[in-house]
Amino acid sequence: ATGARLLVTGGAGFIGSHLVRAALADPAVEEVVVLDDLSTGSAAALAEAGAHLVEGSVTDADVLERVVPGRTSVVHLAALASVAASLQDPLRTHEVNSTGTLLLLEACRRHGVRHVVAASSSAVYGDEPRLPAREDDVVAPLSPYGVSKLATEQHLLAHQRSFGLPTLALRLFNVYGPGQGADHAYAAVVPAFVAALLDGRPLRVDGDGRQTRDLVHVSVVVEVLLDAVRRRLSHPTPVNVGGGEATSLLDLATALGRAAGADVELRHAPARTGDVRHSLADVELLRRLFPDLPRVPLEEGLRTALDWA
Ligand code: NAD
Repeated sequence: ATGARLLVTGGAGFIGSHLVRAALADPAVEEVVVLDDLSTGSAAALAEAGAHLVEGSVTDADVLERVVPGRTSVVHLAALASVAASLQDPLRTHEVNSTGTLLLLEACRRHGVRHVVAASSSAVYGDEPRLPAREDDVVAPLSPYGVSKLATEQHLLAHQRSFGLPTLALRLFNVYGPGQGADHAYAAVVPAFVAALLDGRPLRVDGDGRQTRDLVHVSVVVEVLLDAVRRRLSHPTPVNVGGGEATSLLDLATALGRAAGADVELRHAPARTGDVRHSLADVELLRRLFPDLPRVPLEEGLRTALDWA
């Protein structure tokens, strides 16, 4: 049997560049094409790995007509991945994340792609989910970003039901690891803490620091994505991808200090409006579908982020 001919949208981004490197080394994958408009991703990471990059947007039907034919599998990660950006420009987020997903799925259907995996987000659960959040719980996204991710996952599942296209929609929780950007105001908490620690600045904790996140190392997410591609795994509901453990920001700061062998200094700032207080994935379905998934202990995972920075 020949291997997957894989298209990775958003393959120049944080998660995508890790996936592309792992896919190129995987015997089950024959070739990797990346579609990315480089709006937040970087071509440098890909050139090193030897992937073929097509620079363009998932919202451009002509570009999709060039990159989709001949692909057997698609991992769709391209998105405006920022809640803040979505609050500033909801329509743009809708266009890239919701319409972009639908355009891509339609191209996949036309050209006989056999399997599509896409990244949704824990943001679909909103502010006060039952904890741990289960895939069949009520969803109530707060932001246009959360709504666009709900559209992403539901378009995948509807294409499965209506057209028999095998799809897998993954609700990613807080992904962290090497290569995650810290150079913007709304950087995720792990890269922001790492950057501050390495610069000798205090770590900025918004609010009391007792808010919790479900942190999942990027290598675990990559293994889920690749294993899904290998097995052409589809599922009728979205699937949470988290670590299944709640980590408070205060605990995170302590663990980071231990990983770095350094003292950490905290600076408390007012709580941010729109921030979710608690986030935690129920990972029963994930473990059932991916029984051999590795676990990365937090301190070990934080060391990989520190080594890279
Ligand atoms: P990222 O911003 O590093 O990656 C997104 C990539 O998509 C970038 O390379 C960007 O240039 C590209 N892109 C943006 N708009 C595009 C367009 N119109 N056409 C083609 N490419 C485009 O973010 P990431 O953290 O790697 O996130 C990847 C996916 O996972 C996103 O869909 C995001 O919503 C989802 N996700 C991430 C997390 C997390 O914690 N990092 C959590 C939940 C969901």
